[in-house]
Amino acid sequence: MKTLPIGTRLTVYYVAAMAAVLAGFSAGLYAMAARHLHRQAEGRLVAALDTLTAAAEIGSEGVEWEPDERRLAFGRQGLEGRLAWRIADEKGERVDDSATAEIGGFLGLLGPSVRHPAAFTDASGMPWRAMSRRIERPRPRDEEPPPVAPGHHDALILSVAISLDGVRSTLRNLAATLAGLSLAIWTLALLTGRRLCHAALRPLAEMAAAAHAIGADEPGRRLQIPAADDELAELGRSFNGLLNRLGEALERQQRFAGDASHQLRTPLTSLQGQVDLALRQDRRPEEYRRVLALVRSKTRHLRQIVDGLLFLSRADAEARRPSLEEVPLEAWLRAHLSSWPDPRRADVVLEADAGDSCRALAHPPLLAELLDNLLDNAAKYSPPGTPIEVRLRRHDGEVSFHVRDSGPGLSGDDLGRVFEPFYRADSARLGGPGGTGLGLSIAARIAAACGGRLRADSQPGRGATFTVDLPAAGPADGGPPGPA
Ligand code: ADP
Repeated sequence: MKTLPIGTRLTVYYVAAMAAVLAGFSAGLYAMAARHLHRQAEGRLVAALDTLTAAAEIGSEGVEWEPDERRLAFGRQGLEGRLAWRIADEKGERVDDSATAEIGGFLGLLGPSVRHPAAFTDASGMPWRAMSRRIERPRPRDEEPPPVAPGHHDALILSVAISLDGVRSTLRNLAATLAGLSLAIWTLALLTGRRLCHAALRPLAEMAAAAHAIGADEPGRRLQIPAADDELAELGRSFNGLLNRLGEALERQQRFAGDASHQLRTPLTSLQGQVDLALRQDRRPEEYRRVLALVRSKTRHLRQIVDGLLFLSRADAEARRPSLEEVPLEAWLRAHLSSWPDPRRADVVLEADAGDSCRALAHPPLLAELLDNLLDNAAKYSPPGTPIEVRLRRHDGEVSFHVRDSGPGLSGDDLGRVFEPFYRADSARLGGPGGTGLGLSIAARIAAACGGRLRADSQPGRGATFTVDLPAAGPADGGPPGPA
């Protein structure tokens, strides 16, 4: 099913709510008016009964009906079509009435003392309400009452009926007025609501159109943020933020692809040149051996680059973290350093005074790869014979170890970029030791994959320190704090 546009949906909700409110309000008002008018009718019935009561003379010798001496406010004929009355004696025999035969007949059927209005309908369908009251002569408590005087009665039953014609037509008018008014208000709400909704959503539609118009070849283009600081502005900012992040990621990827091809092309070109040169004429065996040794060294370098690229692309694709395990870092570091296959192994100094409390959550094979990268760099970039310090400590729920050397260190600019793939400081590129520029980015990826991070700290000429922070396993207050 096709979904309605948001503006139409909002308008529908709004007018439906408006209709419910108007219907509820009208029904409430109508019910209140009906109650009030029926109460009024009941009041008029009681007043009419009082008038009839006042027209009767009540004495010890009986109750005498004398409407002529005490004038009836509504007249002897009642009010044509609106009020009818009937007087009956204690046996229910008619004494007098307002001469309205049909209503009189009904009143004759009414009980002697009906205190709550009884409802009936006349032949024309008109609703009526009726009440009755019994009045009787006072009876002395202890003695026999005197005989009833002629023209008098022991008791009289007064009954009155009033028509609800007025009430009915008033309520009908009220219902029509309320319905008309509600419809007018609802129509007005519908028209203004539609306009308001569309006006409120126009910036959204404009933003959608602007977003649609941004082409893939315009990475710098952004959405115009509405002036008002509202949800739409927030949406625009979020969207622009997303574009910025995507742009940066794209740029990184493009740079990475460019760097990767450059890094692969240089050794390949040099390889090809050497092989072409060797094949140009017959050469002595040692010459071939020299070229083959060069080919082997270049292919090893190429292999390193390809391995690094493969690792980085896998780390990108596999967003899942590797399964981490609790590693007793001191013992692990000791074991790893003792088997480090590098001539500089003798220069490595391990300082770990936190004992067994230094347990980290990590993935041992990946951690070994990370540490090897840091150790290889320290060995590569610092003079032989200078110490390579590996120090372990625990602090604030983390376990850290650093690899510090006494080499040339890194400048502030280099520090900010050494974790970028293929970045190599000028000193390393121009005549420094060989490398791919991928080791530190791989190390940083591994630290992040283990839930930690890799930091670099250095001052030119005073060595470099690479610190790995890992989440601690076990209680946070386990080890004594150590200096950085
Ligand atoms: P590679 O060592 O293969 O060039 P890395 O990613 O390991 O690549 O390092 C990137 C760059 O960071 C290096 O080229 C070098 O300029 C610098 N670097 C890394 N470790 C050190 C260090 N211990 N001392 C000085 N510079 C370093």
